[in-house]
Amino acid sequence: MTLAPRADFPLLERHPSLHYLDSAATAQKPRVVLDAIRAFYEEANANPRRGAYALSFEATQRYWSARETIARFLGAADPECLVFVRGTTEAMNLVAATAGREGISAGDNVVVTALEHHASFVTWQRATIEANAQFRIAELRPDLTLDVEHFASLLDARTKVVAVTHVSNALGLVSPVAELVALVRRRAPRAMIVLDGAQSAPHLPVQFDALGVDFYAFSGHKLGGPMGIGGLLGRKALLETMPPYQTGGDMIESVGDQVSTWNTVPFKFEAGTPNAADAVGLAAACEYLTGLGMARVRAHEVALLRALVPALTAIEGVTVHGPTDDAAFAMRSGAVSFELAEAHPHDLATILDQAGVAIRAGHHCCQPLMRRLGVSATARASVFVYSGEADVAALAGAVRHARAVFAGD
Ligand code: PMP
Repeated sequence: MTLAPRADFPLLERHPSLHYLDSAATAQKPRVVLDAIRAFYEEANANPRRGAYALSFEATQRYWSARETIARFLGAADPECLVFVRGTTEAMNLVAATAGREGISAGDNVVVTALEHHASFVTWQRATIEANAQFRIAELRPDLTLDVEHFASLLDARTKVVAVTHVSNALGLVSPVAELVALVRRRAPRAMIVLDGAQSAPHLPVQFDALGVDFYAFSGHKLGGPMGIGGLLGRKALLETMPPYQTGGDMIESVGDQVSTWNTVPFKFEAGTPNAADAVGLAAACEYLTGLGMARVRAHEVALLRALVPALTAIEGVTVHGPTDDAAFAMRSGAVSFELAEAHPHDLATILDQAGVAIRAGHHCCQPLMRRLGVSATARASVFVYSGEADVAALAGAVRHARAVFAGD
């Protein structure tokens, strides 16, 4: 059974035999999201926060209401803590270019993990190079979970930023955020904690206000919203002290001939005409998931993974990366990375595609992790609310077929 009817998703309805197992890359969009975007343009299209006429007020109101809905969905009581950006990549770049640039000096250090997506890894690597600071990478245990002791050993009084992925996109493992936050606060009191929520916002009930982190970055398209919209949730006090990210329309308070002053948070960070229609679409996706219930989304996905992982490991030649014992499912979410002996992941993905099974093959924007795994790529299957047992069965059947092809049976 799927949790959400496939019929809610026009693309899945159009392709009834498609087994879409690449939701970690981008999720399919429910009809309510497409309707909300269309309704914005048909009913309320005007430049928000600009015009002194009713239509512009309507656009402004819908844009603001989207911010309230999305902030509520992610457990942020104050919608002003939500800055709209294009997605996780831009959110991470925003923090690095503002708080990061101001806060990191020569001799300081930034701590990341070997699980980070390039959006985080490369952004902080570059920030440390520019600041002449150290870039420290917390390594993994042999079972590919984060080595928390090593992570702790990297923290000190000169640690200015700690960037951690909430859920690894390549392995689907959930990080022990509460434990990591407690360690950072104890050992690195001057550090800002940036959580990459690209893979947690769609799959876990997230309470930003209770996470104890300073920033949480996410992408709308991974939770059923449109591409090109996402957010940065930040602690208000920090956002207020940070310099602007980009300059331009609507992010100013006043512009003098020589100096300008900045608008309040979040507008200080939203220069130019906002992507209001997609913000409205993303809010519709959040409402759709709220209707399903995020606890049920989580339970559904864990149940699917409990079927998917053994279905794969039962096939000769298949190795699933990361822990697969019973206890592992408490820290598994969304995505499963695996190998088929003698088969390149790209060839495997091509054979699976012929059976209508869409999976991802590649380095998943995690080359540092791939190096540690000793591979250049993995195959990855990832699930969402419209995934069900039929998708798991199709995947297992197609991998068995591929195994026979590669083994020359
Ligand atoms: N971080 C993680 C963990 C991701 O999975 C992704 C998307 N693959 C990103 C960051 C980047 O997100 P986006 O491309 O939407 O900016």
